[in-house]
Amino acid sequence: MMTDAELAFATEFSDLVTRFGMAGTYGLARVRRWPELPRDHVYFETEGPERTLQIRVVPHHAVYGAVNSIWHVTIDENGEDLLVPVQPCLHARTRESGNCPFQLAGGMSIPEPHAAFIGKFVELVRRRGARQEFALARVHRHFDMTDDEVLLESAADDRSLCVSIVGRASVEDSDPVLWFVDTTRPQPELLPVQYVSPGTGIVTESEGVCG
Ligand SMILES: [Zn+2]
Repeated sequence: MMTDAELAFATEFSDLVTRFGMAGTYGLARVRRWPELPRDHVYFETEGPERTLQIRVVPHHAVYGAVNSIWHVTIDENGEDLLVPVQPCLHARTRESGNCPFQLAGGMSIPEPHAAFIGKFVELVRRRGARQEFALARVHRHFDMTDDEVLLESAADDRSLCVSIVGRASVEDSDPVLWFVDTTRPQPELLPVQYVSPGTGIVTESEGVCG
């Protein structure tokens, strides 16, 4: 469940990404709290067997050939807001039918033409005090899914995460951690596409203004 403050943030985000025509490019992610991310490490997302994904913590320099999928807004030593790539992901193949325009270029960085939108996003996060709550996500898809299917994250013993596909009806007690914006509604709306298993501690209470 979202708090009122989180809902207000989400509504503003939906309006913003729709206004810039970027709902097919950027979505919203919860800031992950487990496993902990040491300095100079990233969550590396790779494809597993049978429509699964693995997410594990690796040193930033150990990642090759990946495109980034999640950015945190942090503050640098000069007090300036900074967008930090935290979740590179590796695709087994390029999907022509997918809506990820970043497959062949872009690497870990944000494409230059998106600077205006990104600036507004960072401003929104700062104004709402949501650095510890929400992150920017790149809309992309690793495998085909039906409308009744969503992704579910669960924690493995080795401090990695496994993401698998489950029926939408089975995640009623789970918290969403990733949303894309559905612009086909009269009002743009956040559509949850990835959840976290209850009680795993992957997402927990926080002290942020939005929390
Ligand atoms: Zn990915």
